[in-house]
Amino acid sequence: NRKVVLKGFITGAPKETDMEVKEGDKIVLQLPEDVKGAVLVKNLYLSCDPYMRGRMRESYDSYIPPFQPGSVIEGFGVCKVIDSTDPNFNNGDLVSGITGWEEYSLIRSTDKLRKIATSDVPLSYHLGLLGMPGFTAYAGFYEVCSPKKGDFVFVSAASGAVGQIVGQLAKLHGCYVVGSAGSKQKVELLKNKLSFDEAFNYKEEPDLAAALKRYFPQGIDNYFDNVGGTMLDAALVNMRVHGRVAVCGMVSQHSFSDPQGIHNLYTIVKNRVNIKGFLQSDYLHLYPKFLECVQTYYKEGKIVYIEDVSEGLDSAPGALVGLFSGRNVGKQVVCVAKE
Ligand code: NDP
Repeated sequence: NRKVVLKGFITGAPKETDMEVKEGDKIVLQLPEDVKGAVLVKNLYLSCDPYMRGRMRESYDSYIPPFQPGSVIEGFGVCKVIDSTDPNFNNGDLVSGITGWEEYSLIRSTDKLRKIATSDVPLSYHLGLLGMPGFTAYAGFYEVCSPKKGDFVFVSAASGAVGQIVGQLAKLHGCYVVGSAGSKQKVELLKNKLSFDEAFNYKEEPDLAAALKRYFPQGIDNYFDNVGGTMLDAALVNMRVHGRVAVCGMVSQHSFSDPQGIHNLYTIVKNRVNIKGFLQSDYLHLYPKFLECVQTYYKEGKIVYIEDVSEGLDSAPGALVGLFSGRNVGKQVVCVAKE
């Protein structure tokens, strides 16, 4: 049972060499009888998510504990049940939930595993469009941004797993939407495939505040912040009076122990800006509504989804690390095995 382990706690930007793909124990494809309420799964797709960087840090004062050095990395995955002692799951069921970065996993707590019912989307979409990132976009946009038709909306890391859905939901809501991303290819995707009104490559802008002023001459009503740091700072000075900032994540800050680049906090007072951090897990009661909404949009062709699939367990460390240099184009997943 090959697996990816974290070698040791890290500081700074994550590197592929912080992880190791190892031969694990020989796997017996049957659960021992005394293991009750568990499932044995074959892992098909693994999700690479920025929060996983936080779990590689020793003192991680957060809502989720650090990974243990020498132990298998865990994260969201789509899996097939091989054996089950939980009456709610049968052999052959497809499920999504927290699993190990390995070929087969024993999942002892099955309460958060979701059965995958629909087969009309690619399986891997249950880690993105219909999974945690899609739900983050939905909850963050509708519940935190409090959007109104005609709002001027800015989304950073806009072509990523969360950002691409935020932008499309905002367009469907009747907003004017601009996204920032880190390459020409991503900017083209935003404008030509993901329905954004405008997009720009922040790496080519010497003055981010001036760039935002160009795209939002009347100011920003809603900033959906995925990156923090200097982009948040630039957005602050462009917020309209009573504007809202939904702070979803700060991917530009993961490798620093102190926040970087924030100088414009006074704008929060001047323009009475409402800044709210959120975790998707606070809104889980909305999950059925989210699925209904996004599945319908997808079936009607009103939402598209872009993902970046890397092949094989060996590619997983590189795929995860790539999130922090923007190597991924769309939602990053790893295909471990075909069904
Ligand atoms: P993405 O698919 O967007 O991948 C990360 C992207 O971040 C990269 O592709 C890159 O895009 C961008 N990026 C990386 N480093 C930097 C940097 N230094 N400065 C600016 N941009 C950078 O990831 P997700 O969509 O999965 O996550 C987006 C954000 O949402 C993250 O901050 C994540 O932590 C957060 N999140 C929060 C949740 C919540 O409950 N609050 C739940 C899920 C995610 P580019 O090439 O455009 O720079």
